[in-house]
Amino acid sequence: MTDPGAKAGSDAPEAAHAPELAERAARLRVAVVGGGIAGLVAAEAVAAIGAHATVFEAQGRAGGAVQPGEADGLVFDAGAESFAVRGGHVRALIDDLGLGDRVRTPQPGGAWVAGIPSGAAPLPKGGLLGIPANPFAEDVRRVIGWRGTWRAWLDRLRPPLTIGHDHSLGRLVHKRMGPRVRDRLVAPVSTGVYSAHPDDIDVDVAAPALNAALTRAGSLSGAVAELTGGSERAPGAAVQGLEGGMAGLVDALVARIELLGSEVRTAAPVEALYRDGDGWTVRVAESAPAEVADGAGPGDGPAEPELFDAVILAADEATARRLLAPHVPALAAVAAGSSPRIEIVTLVLDAPVLDAAPRGSGVLTVPGSHTAKALTHSTAKWAWLRERAGSRHVVRVSFGSQGEEPATAALDDEAAAALALAEASALLGVELRPEQLRGSHRSRFVQAQPSAVLGAAERRSAAAAAIADAPGIAATGAWLSGTGLAQVVPHARAEAERIRHALLWG
Ligand SMILES: Cc1cc2nc3c(=O)[nH]c(=O)nc-3n(C[C@H](O)[C@H](O)[C@H](O)COP(=O)(O)OP(=O)(O)OC[C@H]3O[C@@H](n4cnc5c(N)ncnc54)[C@H](O)[C@@H]3O)c2cc1C
Repeated sequence: MTDPGAKAGSDAPEAAHAPELAERAARLRVAVVGGGIAGLVAAEAVAAIGAHATVFEAQGRAGGAVQPGEADGLVFDAGAESFAVRGGHVRALIDDLGLGDRVRTPQPGGAWVAGIPSGAAPLPKGGLLGIPANPFAEDVRRVIGWRGTWRAWLDRLRPPLTIGHDHSLGRLVHKRMGPRVRDRLVAPVSTGVYSAHPDDIDVDVAAPALNAALTRAGSLSGAVAELTGGSERAPGAAVQGLEGGMAGLVDALVARIELLGSEVRTAAPVEALYRDGDGWTVRVAESAPAEVADGAGPGDGPAEPELFDAVILAADEATARRLLAPHVPALAAVAAGSSPRIEIVTLVLDAPVLDAAPRGSGVLTVPGSHTAKALTHSTAKWAWLRERAGSRHVVRVSFGSQGEEPATAALDDEAAAALALAEASALLGVELRPEQLRGSHRSRFVQAQPSAVLGAAERRSAAAAAIADAPGIAATGAWLSGTGLAQVVPHARAEAERIRHALLWG
């Protein structure tokens, strides 16, 4: 069990008023709109201080981008499949929920890059965002060729940029090391990790120490060498997953919320929020099932509308903006981020040719070279999945990125699986025939604008400032925290803490 005292913080004035605060907290009712990880973490934080949280989730299952998929009787991650170890926040949550013994580290296979003149090659080790520390290293040369290597070496001869610095990762890399490093090494990584072209990536967000190291080291490759310290893995790049899939985190959060006396309502899409005196009512769409309509607002039938003391918005950006518009008019002045649409097609295959993991844990692509954006050979990456799959293989193919609709968008499921199979065959460099496909699963997501995109950090803080001025309402989720569980989890906690403080002390 969570210790409510521990979650409530250690402010001295709070300790002095503990019994009175506990009594007040127990009377608080908070509506949380959106049951992705952000909403669930916020709800758990609210419930942990003894208040009542009601999560409204539009879909039939909580989790948002953390969803299980199933094909040929095998269950796997259909959305997020790992978490960044950076910061320790996700791991602390996992441990707190009693899932620590299910944490797994990916197999050390490494990824490949496809779409280069030779077809594909292992992604060079030891770089940072794809930028090599040593352009003469054989694995680097294999991707960019001699011409690219000599051009990249010029970086060592050029003076560092001392007056101002480049904010665009793509422009910085192009200027210092040339087009091949940008297009064949950095672009596959930035498209794979951020769903965005390197020209649109803010180097100070994606690699905060890089510009300063460039000034110190005198070259970009020297800066990368300094920051990676010769390590084969870039700093902060380590990820882990959960045996059985990341959806286990969702199930555990829902169970914890319910154990604390709060609730998660699924198939409950919130249509509108209304101010009601000092509180709020929530209107759920009429098409929602009857048992869910209990939480409906005015005009939704005879049921007494539930009154909430506060609302935490944890939906995607477009929904959050729509629901917030009447209550936070200042938000209209903050430009919305572009949110790429992503489709993942997961294939379960009978393909012994994949036993040798021909492309390690997966493949990133040079933008424009393939219709797929990236591929993960999940049974090569995760030992727990390989054990469960037996002789079968699981391969997930991703489509779509910033400014590029998924190539599968207009296809039916069968055609999408056929395209994914053809792409998998090309990316893995082996023949995969339709009769080897035992099952497939397709999932669609709208991803929040990646935090490393130029201008995203400013937009996020302007939106957060506008929301913070509105009483009784908080907002969290990837569009405000940045994408990735390592950013979403601490932001959701902090936002729940902000609203708790305002309700108890405001
Ligand atoms: C394909 C994919 C793979 C990813 N892989 C990783 C990974 O490996 N590691 C990692 O750290 N991160 C990964 N991410 C990013 C990470 O999953 C997300 O940043 C994070 O899960 C976002 O959580 P969220 O709660 O902010 O948003 P979401 O998960 O989008 O949750 C928002 C929820 O709000 C609900 N909602 C929307 N409108 C309404 C409404 N009107 N009423 C009620 N509910 C509503 C939605 O149904 C949804 O459940 C991945 C993302 C995607 C899309």
